[in-house]
Amino acid sequence: MTAGAALEARHLVKDFRGFRATNDVSLQIREGEIHAIIGPNGAGKTTLFNLLSGFLRPSSGEVRLHGERIDTLPPYAIVRRGLSRSFQISSVFPSLTVRDNVLVALESPTRLPGQFWTPLARLEALGPRADQILADVGLAGAHSRLAADLSHGEKRQLEIGLSLSQDPRVLLLDEPTSGMGSEGIGRVIALVRQVARGRTVVLVEHNMSVVAELADRITVLQYGQVLASGTYDEVRRDPRVIEAYLGE
Ligand code: ADP
Repeated sequence: MTAGAALEARHLVKDFRGFRATNDVSLQIREGEIHAIIGPNGAGKTTLFNLLSGFLRPSSGEVRLHGERIDTLPPYAIVRRGLSRSFQISSVFPSLTVRDNVLVALESPTRLPGQFWTPLARLEALGPRADQILADVGLAGAHSRLAADLSHGEKRQLEIGLSLSQDPRVLLLDEPTSGMGSEGIGRVIALVRQVARGRTVVLVEHNMSVVAELADRITVLQYGQVLASGTYDEVRRDPRVIEAYLGE
């Protein structure tokens, strides 16, 4: 393994009924960096994300987290080893308050199999951590609102908060600015910078100005393969990248 690689893909392949969505992808995410995965629609970004987080099993190849092979583990075991992925909006409980959503996320990994309720006292003991997470994602003032009543941008903030409940060393964020206006995008950029302190962050992102602002390094995918990787300046001067984007 490359020294300092927090997360590594080695020769990853994913076939969907004969269609190769991920074609021999190798990449290293360095400890502590913000790494963006970009590429035209259909390039295989989501599939790669699902492979890295254990939501899909590779057809062949390996995923290693801090050197340990994780591609054979179920998602919950990967979360326990310190890799967590931003929850999709669908995992936010709309009828619960913002704070209760975080409490549920904090509590659920510790629940015993078959146990469907949690003593109130145990939930309340998690309160200070929930409040800290809400403060970290800028939702302290919204703690008692129903999640259903949040704006789109606030829901994305809550999703990031839910993934922080596992205190991951490596955080995967799937298009954190999607569907947002410029004000919301500015807030997410600040938030990602903050949650990246002391963590490794991998994000899929379409908005190139967000990528330019946030990413230490970038991997560009096309047709399921790595087209280029490097810093923003290195990648944007690469003739293959220019061609891929102009040809979209
Ligand atoms: P991106 O996120 O870059 O837009 P995806 O990873 O979603 O790309 O998709 C890459 C390719 O794999 C696309 O052509 C898509 O149609 C195909 N694909 C993704 N998931 C499946 C699936 N479950 N079954 C069949 N084809 C899939």
